[in-house]
Amino acid sequence: MAKKKSKIYIIDVTNRDGVQTSRLGLAKLEKTMLNLYLNEMGVFQSEFGFPVTNHETNYINANIELAKKGVLVPMILSGWTRAIPEDIENAVRLTKVEHLNISISTSDQMIKGKFGGKKTKKDVLKLMVSALKMARKKGIKTVGVNAEDASRTDMDYLIAFALAARDNGADRIRYCDTLGYDNPQSIYARISELAERVGLPVEIHCHNDLGMVVGNSVIGAVAAVEKGVDAYINTTVNGLGERAGNADLVSVILALKFSKDLSEKKLLDGRIKLSVAWKLAKYAAYAFGVPLAIKQPGVGANAFAHESGIHADGALKDRRNYELYDYEELGRGEPETVDTGRKITAGEYSGIKGFRNVYSKLEIKFKDDSEAREVLELVRYANVQTQKPLVEDELRFIAKYPKIAKKILTTTP
Ligand SMILES: [Zn+2]
Repeated sequence: MAKKKSKIYIIDVTNRDGVQTSRLGLAKLEKTMLNLYLNEMGVFQSEFGFPVTNHETNYINANIELAKKGVLVPMILSGWTRAIPEDIENAVRLTKVEHLNISISTSDQMIKGKFGGKKTKKDVLKLMVSALKMARKKGIKTVGVNAEDASRTDMDYLIAFALAARDNGADRIRYCDTLGYDNPQSIYARISELAERVGLPVEIHCHNDLGMVVGNSVIGAVAAVEKGVDAYINTTVNGLGERAGNADLVSVILALKFSKDLSEKKLLDGRIKLSVAWKLAKYAAYAFGVPLAIKQPGVGANAFAHESGIHADGALKDRRNYELYDYEELGRGEPETVDTGRKITAGEYSGIKGFRNVYSKLEIKFKDDSEAREVLELVRYANVQTQKPLVEDELRFIAKYPKIAKKILTTTP
C-alpha cells in the first residue's frame, strides 16, 4: 500500500497564545464563538485554553460538551500546560480535556535564564518525559511536546529531546520559534534535520519579531512534509499574539494555496474552507477590540482596492492583472447593512421588551415568557463580560444552547 501523502494542517492557538498576550483578552463566550468559527473553517485543532487555570475550567468543559453534542466537531480541542506531572494531574482533575500540548524550555538561554541554575538540560529532558508519561497514564489521547525556544536550542540537544518525546509516546513535536529568531533558510534547514532524524510529525510555532512569521511557518512546514512527516502550522486569527504576534491564519492559508510553486503542490489540509475567512477575521477584530489593518492580506479594507490609473484600469480589464485570488473566495463581496436610525441593542441592563425586539429581528421565537426571561438573563451576564453589544451569532448561540451558555458564563472566583 502506498504511504499516505504528508500534509499541512492548521492548529490555531488564538484562544491560548492570542489571549495570553499583553492588552489582549476575550470573554469566554467570545472564545467559544472563535472555536465555532474555526471549526466551520475546517481548522484541524484549536488550542483552546489553559485547563489548570481556574477561570477557564467551565469554559473548557462546556466547549468539550459542545463537541460531544456534535456541535463543535470534527475540530480537536486541546489544552496547553507546562510539561510537569502536576499540571497534567490538575488538568485531568479539573477538566474533561482529552488532548494536550505540554511545554518546556529547551534553549541554554532559557534553561539558565529561567530556571536560575536549578535545572540542567538532563533535568529538563527527564521532567518532560515524566509529564508525558503522566499524560499517557491519564488517558490523554494526543500529546504534543513543545520545545520552547527551539530555534535557539542546540540542535543535538533538540534532537535528543524530540527522540525522548517520540520514544515515550508523543504524537508530535512542537518547534517553537518563540522569539521570532528564525528566517526561512534557517527554519527550513533545522526542521528538515529534525523531521529526518526523529520522524515525528512537527508543529511549527513561530512569532513575528523580525517580520518573517508567515514565511517561516510555511517554509518550516514544507521542510517537514518533504521529509515525509505531517506538519501542523500554529496560527492565530489576524496574527494577534505575544509582542509582534503569531502567524496570521488567513495569510498562512493564502500562502499555501496561492504562492509560487506551492499552489500546485496542494499541501494544505483539504478540509480548510477559505470562505469563512471574512466572517472570522471581522469577528475576531470586534471581539479583541483590535481593528483589522487596512493592508491585512485577504481581509483588510485595501486587500482588493485599486485607485491609481494603471492599477484600476488593469484590475477592471482582468482581475488577474493585479489580484492573485478573488475576494469571493474569502467570503467577501456581499453588501452589509448597517442600521443608521433607531437601534435597540441587548445588554447588561436590558429589559424584556427591548430584548424581544432584538430577538424578533433575528426571527427567533421563545416558547413562553419564562424561556425569554431565562435567555435575557444570560444575555445580560454575557454583556457584563464582553462589554460591547452582542453580535447576532452570539445572541443565536445563547438562545440555542442556554444551558451551555450558562456554564461558559460562570467564572466563580
Ligand atoms: Zn507563542
